[in-house]
Amino acid sequence: MNSLRHLKGLTPKKAEALANAGFETLEDIVFHVPGRYLDARQLVPLADLRKHLRQPVSVRGKVISARLIPGYRRARAEIALQDESGGALQLVFFDFPDWRAKQFKKDEEYLAAGYAGEFRGVVQIVQPPFIERLEKPEEFVRGQMLPLYYLSPALRKAGIRDKQFREWVDASIEEAGHLGILVENLPQELLDREHLMPRAEAIHEAHHPNSPERVERARRRLKYEEVFFMQLRLALERQRVRQTVKNVVKYDVSRLLAALQGKTLSDPGVAEGVLASLPYKLTNDQIKSLREILHDMSKEGGRTYPMNRLLQGDVGSGKTIVALLAMLVAIENGYQCAFMAPTEVLAAQHFDTLSRILKDTIVHTTLLIGGQGKRERKNVLEAIASGETHIVVGTHALIQKSVAFHRLGFVVTDEQHRFGVAQRKAIVDKAATTANLDEFERELFRIQIHSPTPVTPDVLLMTATPIPRTLALTLYGDMEVSTIRELPAGRRPIKTMLFFEHDHPQIYKAALRRIEQKGEQIFIVYPLREKSQKVDSEAAEKAFEQLKAGALKQVRVGLVHGKMPSSEKQDAMRRFREKEFDVLIATTVIEVGVDVPNATVMIIEHAERFGLAQLHQLRGRVGRGSADSACVLVASEKLDSSEGMLTSDEIEQSSLALERLHTLVATSDGFEIAKADMQFRGTGEILGQKQSGRVMLKIANLTTDTDIVEQTFRDAEHVIAADPQLRTPANHATREEFLRLFRDEESFLHVG
Ligand code: ADP
Ligand code: MG
Repeated sequence: MNSLRHLKGLTPKKAEALANAGFETLEDIVFHVPGRYLDARQLVPLADLRKHLRQPVSVRGKVISARLIPGYRRARAEIALQDESGGALQLVFFDFPDWRAKQFKKDEEYLAAGYAGEFRGVVQIVQPPFIERLEKPEEFVRGQMLPLYYLSPALRKAGIRDKQFREWVDASIEEAGHLGILVENLPQELLDREHLMPRAEAIHEAHHPNSPERVERARRRLKYEEVFFMQLRLALERQRVRQTVKNVVKYDVSRLLAALQGKTLSDPGVAEGVLASLPYKLTNDQIKSLREILHDMSKEGGRTYPMNRLLQGDVGSGKTIVALLAMLVAIENGYQCAFMAPTEVLAAQHFDTLSRILKDTIVHTTLLIGGQGKRERKNVLEAIASGETHIVVGTHALIQKSVAFHRLGFVVTDEQHRFGVAQRKAIVDKAATTANLDEFERELFRIQIHSPTPVTPDVLLMTATPIPRTLALTLYGDMEVSTIRELPAGRRPIKTMLFFEHDHPQIYKAALRRIEQKGEQIFIVYPLREKSQKVDSEAAEKAFEQLKAGALKQVRVGLVHGKMPSSEKQDAMRRFREKEFDVLIATTVIEVGVDVPNATVMIIEHAERFGLAQLHQLRGRVGRGSADSACVLVASEKLDSSEGMLTSDEIEQSSLALERLHTLVATSDGFEIAKADMQFRGTGEILGQKQSGRVMLKIANLTTDTDIVEQTFRDAEHVIAADPQLRTPANHATREEFLRLFRDEESFLHVG
């Protein structure tokens, strides 16, 4: 790796700040492509600023005054700018040292960018994220574009300014050129076919743009390259996975298939019995998805690899019953099933649901979660190991080393995006490994482990955070996708409304009316404030005490939060389900999957602190019966008030936050919401790709750049199909780059 020694003015302090921000090598700097440009054509005349309040703007103006105002708490500097349009703008800086305020001299010209606001009639940008003096006014003429690099507060604090960073970028590009780092790494054939800009040119253009159009082409090339190498690696991985599979199970699915076609069977099994006893009819999409699953399970058509299918369907679309019917088929073929859920509350609920449906059958279901007592745990583990248990429902506890299956053949992972790749893999591996018990545990449990030939189990992953197929393939490897788009008949849309904290009295009044007049139930959810369950739980506890004694004193209020012992949590949920409480105050422990049909109102406090997908999940806790349901998003007061001096960053954040919440008010389509959420937050956070460690994208965004994801997927497959080891001269540079990128990982190309 090439160090940053060549950078001028790189003090140890700055070097450390750079390293902390992820800039350690030449490549890190060269490929730090700016996200925004200050385009001379897009400068807003100061007289027009009022039309652009709460939006990002860039401006240029001359200093007409600079004052330091001693404040009650914090001093601030106010710099007034003016331009030929006759308008004016005030720049405000807090905690500004005296000497810096004095640096702004009358008639000097500045460029600035940020979110403008208005305070007491004055248009201002408070703490602008970009400000720079134009030393020579002709420097920034019409048509020119200046790259705006995102420099984190820590970098700025270390004294790194935009201008210096730009100089470093230039020096690094030059150095990289000398060192041959920018040589072309894509096959010529691809460059031609996709009309991609050559590599060195793209880097240069991205940092020194000539026009917005060329910037776009440059960025496209760099994104393409980034995603292409990722796809190449995944294509090789898929190839390898298919080659390594050993024993798959060929399930006999004929009876359930026949029952789904409406045939009457002479010898119905458990699956067919359960299907016939459901109080509702499966929707067409449920049937279609189940058929697809059964087809995979049957391994018809000579298929030699196990099922790996993602079942995606919006909250409330009825995924659980589909999974259960498939599990029953596996059980009737002599195998055990594992059903993994991300939280104890959800695992316990699934266990209840399944036990209820299966109570008159021979199928034996158990629950395995962290909070169980020693004796109970021992019994559960024994029942799993002996094969007495057919379905074990549980949390991560299922992948602990003391869990041994008798004959695991089918794995369901609910809310799969909440698990990391390693966890999803660990549960599958349970089928092939006998329990890793130490001698003491063996003695303790006296488990007889007589594993028949281990098989690679079929896997069904479920999610309510839908993603496009190619993206699923890209993120999760070889996988088929079934989708339930249609909600069960009779569901009423959930009305979603946005309020602010000062609306509380009105909100509680409406809630009480629901309870007292219709006997319906209500959730009130408090968000995770810090990354700690403690604070989270305390907020809920406090609200519980206050509401019970105050606004909601005439009804019965329950509480469930993450800090409670598992048994108390389950007890609170049960009592709510059995209508012992009218209101349940909760933290996000109820976020996923909880099913209480009589609950019709979901009130979400500090809604802006949740991710969109999470809000959609929470909203999906109501609207499960046939009554009209509502979801009330309560945003923090500070998002509402237009008074007060808001910094550019605060305006940016609150505009984004409100925009996100409005998305939720406007649509109930999980696909739309998932997409918007990924755009707001970046794909990684949502899909757990960070945990997978395999997708590290700097420029491309897997959600918004779908065409590139699709195209590179096909191109990578082609390249590998024609030249599996990248040995031909045409692929030489591509091979080199691939080995450089993935040299730390296991060998994909059998180097040598
Ligand atoms: P999700 O897909 O969000 O996991 P669930 O499986 O929890 O949804 O199902 C939500 C509710 O819908 C459950 O109460 C379930 O019994 C019910 N349900 C499932 N399928 C149907 C159907 N076809 N018709 C009516 N209700 C159904
Ligand atoms: Mg569910």
